[in-house]
Amino acid sequence: MRREDTGIMTSPEKSRVFIQEVAPRDGFQNEAGFIPTERKIALIDALGATGVAKIEVTSFTSSKAIPALADAESVMAGIRRHPGVAYAALVPNVRGCERALACGVDEINLVMSVSAGHSLANLRRLPADSLAEFERIVGMAAGEVGIAVSLSTAFGCPFDGPVAEREVVDVVERLVGLGIVSVTLCDTTGMANPAQVRSLCGRVRARWPGLQLTAHFHDTRGMGLANAVAALEAGIDRFDASLSGLGGCPYAPGASGNVCTEDLAHMLEAMGYRSGVDLGALLDASRVLAGMLDHPVSSHLLEAGPWHRRYPLPAFARTGSMAGLRRHAQ
Ligand code: ZN
Repeated sequence: MRREDTGIMTSPEKSRVFIQEVAPRDGFQNEAGFIPTERKIALIDALGATGVAKIEVTSFTSSKAIPALADAESVMAGIRRHPGVAYAALVPNVRGCERALACGVDEINLVMSVSAGHSLANLRRLPADSLAEFERIVGMAAGEVGIAVSLSTAFGCPFDGPVAEREVVDVVERLVGLGIVSVTLCDTTGMANPAQVRSLCGRVRARWPGLQLTAHFHDTRGMGLANAVAALEAGIDRFDASLSGLGGCPYAPGASGNVCTEDLAHMLEAMGYRSGVDLGALLDASRVLAGMLDHPVSSHLLEAGPWHRRYPLPAFARTGSMAGLRRHAQ
């Protein structure tokens, strides 16, 4: 595909990208107040009509650990499934896997941390224990449901600090050995920078060209979209994102959440990529979400509209009034 007007050129094989919505899980789990089940269902149904490739609907974690998602079964039972959209759920352990399978999810997303500190704080076990648990889960679920693994703290840990590429590669190696074909590299607390993203994503991409790789960025420190471009340039074509940037970071109070879905979809479209996402439908869903929350969200696109938005020329500019031009310049 060639874009003569903007000078942007992308090759046909790299023009398709996949956007995977995580607001109902990554976003809602960070909300202080409980979002009523029927409102969650309404939002997920609106998202299903936007053209996103996948929706992470909920998490089958203990309701004590994440009370905000205690209604996982009811949400899964209540949604209307759009053809062509994969409905996934996060699963931390065997018990969660049993619950997810009973609900007929299309995909389970297993989660583990690369770093020991985050693993102990978030999952109360070491990364090696997660791998052992995954082996049991793969034994239970392989052939019945899609299985993906999200690697938290792949780009840095708020407790242990930098995470070496080697550590990430070693974990991916173990996962591939278990038969996992889909892996998400997560910048869980927004520590990644674009140079680091290009390096790690490029390395994993080159080592396992057939592996389905997703990048999951948080915009905690304003590097989210830049990291997405770096991942794209390293050969990643799947991105997790959250409607209106919903979500947060427990280790950076008040910080924004995931990369904002509508901002990401808009940027990719402006760059000449095809995500299959209808921006208008996404903005409608974003407005539905804004109406459900008691706090503002951080969607640039909702505020500014798309880049091709045009404004009527001010009257003084149309008439060429120099007095008007001088006033405006001040
Ligand atoms: Zn996340």
